Amino acid sequence: MYDVNKIREDFPILQREVYGKPLIYFDNGATTQKPRCVVEAITDEYYSVNANVHRGVHFLSQQATDLHEASRETVRKFLNAASTNEIIFTRGTTESINLFVSSFGEEFMREGDEVIISVMEHHSNIVPWQLLAARKGIVLKVIPMNDKGELLLDEYEKLFSERTKIVSITQVSNVLGTVNPVKQMVETAHAHGVPVLVDGAQSVPHMTVDVRDLDADFFAFSGHKIYGPTGVGVLYGKEEWLDKLPPYQGGGEMIQSVTFEKTVFNELPYKFEAGTPDYIGTTSLAKAIDYVSAIGMDNIAAYEHELTEYGMQQLKTIEGMRIFGEAEHKSSVISFLVGNIHHFDMGTLLDRLGIAVRTGHHCAQPLMQRLGIEGTVRASFALYNTKEEIDALVAGIQRVSKMF
Ligand code: PLP
Repeated sequence: MYDVNKIREDFPILQREVYGKPLIYFDNGATTQKPRCVVEAITDEYYSVNANVHRGVHFLSQQATDLHEASRETVRKFLNAASTNEIIFTRGTTESINLFVSSFGEEFMREGDEVIISVMEHHSNIVPWQLLAARKGIVLKVIPMNDKGELLLDEYEKLFSERTKIVSITQVSNVLGTVNPVKQMVETAHAHGVPVLVDGAQSVPHMTVDVRDLDADFFAFSGHKIYGPTGVGVLYGKEEWLDKLPPYQGGGEMIQSVTFEKTVFNELPYKFEAGTPDYIGTTSLAKAIDYVSAIGMDNIAAYEHELTEYGMQQLKTIEGMRIFGEAEHKSSVISFLVGNIHHFDMGTLLDRLGIAVRTGHHCAQPLMQRLGIEGTVRASFALYNTKEEIDALVAGIQRVSKMF
């Protein structure tokens, strides 16, 4: 039995009020709230274990290192990766993608080579490629979508050429909620001999992800979107690929030996982890993963699906409602506009009712251009949201609509 009230008790912030109203937090796509166990893992480690990892012979350093490396194993298991060598800790999805683009682009892409992305990418999976384009003259090709917000797989297939070196796509759109058929898209890419990076920022918190089942060559996600801390994320990469990529940054931890003439790089995964890692962050990320795993990712997915279906149904009863993203496979994100009401006005007035939504372009301006709008209001649900909160959102939107 999924007991949402019990789950809510684990999240102290959900008890607070804003403007004298109970907080209704629907900005989970941007970041999620933290359960007590995650916050306690942070304070516990600072209070009783804190020491820099990997380099110390002393007790605390070894204990901190054990926690840090155990977290790597937790992530490995969670993604079903083959080895902890394939789990690189980063600051988040954005850094994971930048690391990948920089290393892969340096080693495997030349002027005129092509990357395939999609029209619904977050800027984090567009701009790094544009920076590479400016440096090396690579070309971006874009998979289009239909009006429901589903990628056109026939068009995708047509984008491949002998210059295609990489496909880089999101598993779930942060605006439309579309769950892309990534497994099938990986299969297509592999049939052309092309590897795939999957942006999992919006998928990992909401569904079971098995990187080996997807056969993704690379996969990125952020800790803070899955109830973990800010400032820590993951880049997964198949070992055979990571072995071939050059380091991203230089410094401590990523070296085996250094002379003024030559540096020998460390083995995986440390080759990509220059400098002191956020070892407190990795421990608390592991706590967050343990937390969602105990509830069960499939249970979370089923519950959030129910919430989303309910939300779609209820929101559609509102006069003048326009919903963006009606894909058959949809995650718990609903983007909308009502009549002529500006998204910013809607968001500001909902906030006064205690309802936190996101407004704007959601770091997906090319998608906004495709939709012919400047921005949307976005309600994104998490494991602790309820149907009663959705009812309050609907009532809130109706109230705002009447004011206009
Ligand atoms: N990719 C997608 C699909 C996202 O939704 C986000 C954040 O909203 C990112 C990448 C960037 O994540 P972060 O800011 O944690 O690096």
